[in-house]
Amino acid sequence: GLPTVVIVGRPNVGKSTLFNAILGQRKSITGDEPGITRDRIIGDAVHFNRPFQLIDTGGIVPEDAEWIPAQILKQARVALDVADQIIFLIDGRTEITSADRDLAQILRRLGKPVTLAVNKIDVAKRESLTTAFFELGFKDVMSVSAEHRLGLEELLDHVTRDF
Ligand code: GDP
Ligand code: MG
Repeated sequence: GLPTVVIVGRPNVGKSTLFNAILGQRKSITGDEPGITRDRIIGDAVHFNRPFQLIDTGGIVPEDAEWIPAQILKQARVALDVADQIIFLIDGRTEITSADRDLAQILRRLGKPVTLAVNKIDVAKRESLTTAFFELGFKDVMSVSAEHRLGLEELLDHVTRDF
């Protein structure tokens, strides 16, 4: 099948906004496909001549849902099962939370390529705003604004580099 990019992150960091920004629009909401649960939203994307499948792991988590460990594990499970590349999205306008740290620890153990994408960096000069997030332990750190479509090209260049 197509190489697969999975977006993970705690609620409200902008996963769905990023998913929609990359796809242009929601291509499919699944549920009937075997092995595909309702909390995954899948779309077919292409970056230059590199087609790939994009998965938003937070599909049915309500915005005000409590962040419970089960949800972290579920996201990690999806990432472990199907991801060729993982985009670990965090909110660049807030402090790092315990949920961010828990997810970071799990993702580091998967042994899959993870790009830490710092979202909601809505200004043009973005790079200096990401340094605080290197402590999460990922060497590939990029800044984006999903809402304003900043940094998406660089992010996709990076995550699809081997596709
Ligand atoms: P999810 O729960 O991780 O899927 O997050 P959503 O995509 O639903 O976004 C949560 C909130 O963050 C929404 O109010 C979005 O409009 C907002 N948001 C997403 N991306 C950005 C961004 O790049 N900049 C800003 N300022 N807000 C954003
Ligand atoms: Mg969402």
